Amino acid sequence: SNTTPLLQVQQLVAGHGPLVAVRGVSLQLAPGEAVALIGANGAGKTTLLRCLAGVHPAQGGQVLLRGQDVSAWPAHRRVQQGLALVPEGRRLFGDMTVRENLHVAAEHRSGDRPEPAGGAWTLDRVLTALPGLATILDRPAAALSGGQRQAAAIARALMTHPDVLLLDEISLGLSPLVVNEVYDNLRQLRREAATTLLLVEQDLGRALAFADRMLCLREGRIVLAGRCQDLSREAITAAYFGME
Ligand code: ATP
Repeated sequence: SNTTPLLQVQQLVAGHGPLVAVRGVSLQLAPGEAVALIGANGAGKTTLLRCLAGVHPAQGGQVLLRGQDVSAWPAHRRVQQGLALVPEGRRLFGDMTVRENLHVAAEHRSGDRPEPAGGAWTLDRVLTALPGLATILDRPAAALSGGQRQAAAIARALMTHPDVLLLDEISLGLSPLVVNEVYDNLRQLRREAATTLLLVEQDLGRALAFADRMLCLREGRIVLAGRCQDLSREAITAAYFGME
């Protein structure tokens, strides 16, 4: 039903060897929401996202997708059930063309769940949602510019029919103009497919302008959470730097 969170995270704990990077994080994503995850370098944002995607092991807590506990599931099974990660650094298969990258992703779909809102992600539909991709389809991924690689990485995630997209620092290394384009693409995605988004964003202004809600992570804990329109810049900066 509409009241069941699409994604629910309960008391997630994760680290790297002896280092604890995520210290009991709980959060929920309602269907269609866009939530920005902010925090200083090393706050644990990437580790958290990678745990949700199942590419980094959690040491404790639960991840529920549509109410189902997926905590013990490997990454590919989470992808099949609609949870897709667009990783930092936008790893693509460099010696494959964009088209080939998209085909590989499409093979990770599963037929045993409803199609995402707006219907199946065909290549044509992905090209409509991400204009600009059409001209680079037959180029090797390694030959793309930063912005093109970013668009291709989002397209690749879309080909898995995601209900939830986890986006890690999609602005990293891009010019402001290109970042605008990437965000325009995301807005279109939300309008057309009501895709639920959890995105790590370093640029506070951009995060506030784009997201419905914001979570601020500091030293592995959520120290501030709220609707973007309700949070003052002062409160966010204080939480971000630990001055509250
Ligand atoms: P950034 O914005 O720099 O990516 P972040 O908020 O995403 O930061 P994480 O990358 O999740 O934070 O890092 C959280 C903590 O875990 C940091 O102390 C970091 O040094 C440590 N860490 C991250 N990756 C590793 C790793 N592969 N091995 C050891 N420690 C790591």
